[in-house]
Amino acid sequence: DMKTVRHELVVLGGGPAGYVAAIRAAQLGIDVACIDENDRFGGTCLRVGCIPSKALLESSHLYEEAQHRFAEHGLKIDGVQLDLDAMMARKKKIVDALTGGIDMLFKKKGVTPYRGRGRFRDVESIQVEGQDNVLIQADRILICSGSRPSKLGFVEEDGDRIGNSTTALSFPDVPERLVVIGGGYIGLEMSSVWNRLGSKVIVLEALDHIMPGIDGELAQMAHRIFKKQGMDIRTKTFVESAKRDGDECVVAIKDAEPIRCDRVLLSTGRTPATDDLGLEAIGLETDRRGFIPVNAEFETSADHVYAIGDCIGGAMLAHKAMEEGIVCVERIAGVKSHMNYDVIPAIVYTHPEIAMVGKTEEQLKEEGIEYNKGVCPFGANGRARTLGEFEGRVKILADVETDRVLGVHILGARAGDLIAEAASAMEFGASSEDIARTCHAHPTLSEAVHEAALAVDSRAIHTI
Ligand code: FAD
Repeated sequence: DMKTVRHELVVLGGGPAGYVAAIRAAQLGIDVACIDENDRFGGTCLRVGCIPSKALLESSHLYEEAQHRFAEHGLKIDGVQLDLDAMMARKKKIVDALTGGIDMLFKKKGVTPYRGRGRFRDVESIQVEGQDNVLIQADRILICSGSRPSKLGFVEEDGDRIGNSTTALSFPDVPERLVVIGGGYIGLEMSSVWNRLGSKVIVLEALDHIMPGIDGELAQMAHRIFKKQGMDIRTKTFVESAKRDGDECVVAIKDAEPIRCDRVLLSTGRTPATDDLGLEAIGLETDRRGFIPVNAEFETSADHVYAIGDCIGGAMLAHKAMEEGIVCVERIAGVKSHMNYDVIPAIVYTHPEIAMVGKTEEQLKEEGIEYNKGVCPFGANGRARTLGEFEGRVKILADVETDRVLGVHILGARAGDLIAEAASAMEFGASSEDIARTCHAHPTLSEAVHEAALAVDSRAIHTI
């Protein structure tokens, strides 16, 4: 005799997709509940993704700066020491504050939280088992179950020496030799952290380039920079197996010597978490890779059941998931809303950062779209010089005929913050001239965006 409750909308999963959808629903006057199986709401992003990784990137960057860059500012400090436990404690504090914040927001905004694993019983009810044991009946159900790290059969994960991104966010010590399988953004961010903290990092990538999806020219520049930072990045390298050998690990590679190391990080993508939701109870089938098919309204094939976020595929990014959460719920509430998949920024938080929005040169060529290109290297930017961060460039791609901005790609300090201007401009359908005619404050890094826009029409002032 399980307790039964009723809500208008039940959100299954409390990550960026789910908690944002739930809060927006409450704002719109919908009686909403949100279920998550973890002690803390926030999903992958807040617990073991975006936030803890950025905390470690920041700390490890400062460690690097203190050791190698302070002297050029005329700051002498001797014997910089690493206290990994303190670094990890800081990370935990940040995660705790933000995940705790969601409980507070739910309370203030009127979202009912349930903690436990939820499974469909039928199209209008979900059984929750865990801290809370309850049967929830709902008019509508929104699946936001997210994703988890993909596995490879020949990589024998033990959750310790051979693990995934979650493991690598909490190594108990700095591994002397770390092998990272996969040269995507998560692999490279975690490589950056441990490389800075003193590991000898080897990144193994099967493709002939790192960071698939990123503009080819910038990916190449970034590759060179990472190499200079001491990372050993090997492309066209096929891992055949990875297994424990006592206290060591052995990674076997096709046509090359096996690599012995202390730890292995497997980061070859993420898999939708849809295999244990009881989807069979509502006759909902996933696609071959496990993603839930939806239409433009985020409706699944089951009546009154919707899905958003990582579990439906597309860009597996937190801000894409949050945006879908808002749009989906607004439409349910009968409010006009729109989702623009052409303008979703993507950022790699290495140092320097890499940020993009819109199309790459490769995509435009493939689609036969003619474009003009304006570039500004950060070397020509005064603020970048004062920061001592003048590697990289801004690149703006604009339609030859209409001058409409089609893509913006930035490699450089704080690229992730700079890309927001490009995203706003593109959302408003701006031309490169619109950006060029906008007065940018001096001296700021954003002037490099301005200069690149001027350069589209060969009017750059500070570059040749
Ligand atoms: P999730 O965040 O995965 O949330 C789903 C939640 O639902 C989870 O808490 C899960 O436990 C819960 N759940 C699933 N099934 C059930 C069930 N049956 N019952 C109860 N609960 C359930 N994205 C960015 O945009 N920027 C970044 O910098 C970034 N960095 C990342 C770094 C790392 C190391 C990783 C791993 C990911 C990173 N991401 C980043 C990706 C980002 O975390 C995801 O895109 C985002 O979390 C997806 O949100 P979601 O709500 O769809 O799913």
